[in-house]
Amino acid sequence: MNTCSSMHRRALLAAGLLSLPAPALAQARRPPLALCTVGMVGDMVRSLGGAAFRVETLIGEGVDPHLFRPTRNDIQRILGADLLFANGHRLEGRMGDVLERARGAGKPVVMVAEALPRERLRANPDYPDAADPHVWMDPTLWAEAAAPAADALSRFAPAAAQDIAAALAAWRARLARLDAFARTALGAIPAPQRLLVTAHDAFAYFGARYGIEVASIQGLSTEAEANLARIEALVATLVARRVPAVFAESSVPDRAVRALIEGAGARGQRVAMGGNLFSDAMGRPGTYEGTYEGMIDHNVTTIARALGGTAPPRGLNGRLAA
Ligand SMILES: [Zn+2]
Repeated sequence: MNTCSSMHRRALLAAGLLSLPAPALAQARRPPLALCTVGMVGDMVRSLGGAAFRVETLIGEGVDPHLFRPTRNDIQRILGADLLFANGHRLEGRMGDVLERARGAGKPVVMVAEALPRERLRANPDYPDAADPHVWMDPTLWAEAAAPAADALSRFAPAAAQDIAAALAAWRARLARLDAFARTALGAIPAPQRLLVTAHDAFAYFGARYGIEVASIQGLSTEAEANLARIEALVATLVARRVPAVFAESSVPDRAVRALIEGAGARGQRVAMGGNLFSDAMGRPGTYEGTYEGMIDHNVTTIARALGGTAPPRGLNGRLAA
């Protein structure tokens, strides 16, 4: 205990912690662990409560959350966390049981997308009891989804509530600026080319917010295989509308998207690979694309530039990888 300042010692004494054995004491002095499923939720929670909490993310770069199955080690991390944050609406389709177990053990489990008003959400044809889970694609919705996360953090650490409220306001302001950038950049895409073709159906909220029609090879989840008739139909649309580009996704294999390009090419229509979008996972940790803001900036800039909109090559903040 001689490493403790006397003030710290007094605080521990007051909390009755000096009577705890040493490992429990070390545990008690560490900030509480907020464990998040996907990177987008992790970035949100870190932005809100990073000063008072250890914030960790379970599902990493390029990993598809629809298919993610927690290992024994992941389950231990979940059951060892102090509070848990997930997107919900079955995005983390194979984690429902373990999150329920954590809730049953009395841990706060916050499903940020499930707290949004149902009338703002889109239907999920695969699961009538759930909505389309990809709400982070609309920054105005994601700004709202931060409110229940901020509430849970403040309830857990009331001393930090003021800082968390300030961080929530800053988060909303940053996302409003991101949304304004997206409206301008994507608004400039000529009408016939306002069609976003991707590997799976992750962009419906994005399309609705920015007035872009979306079409995908796979549905809301990546669990079902790509189907040939669907690819044929998309090729016909690309050719008929002279769409200049289609897009791959970092968390989904790009074979089927390449089949679209080949199919259109066989019919004499040159379609480019517009780029690799971040749909259900962010970029590498420690990079700008590994943040929520960088992820959306990357998507907006890539889509706008490939389909004939306007965006600076390095995006809203000049920070996108060249
Ligand atoms: Zn998805």
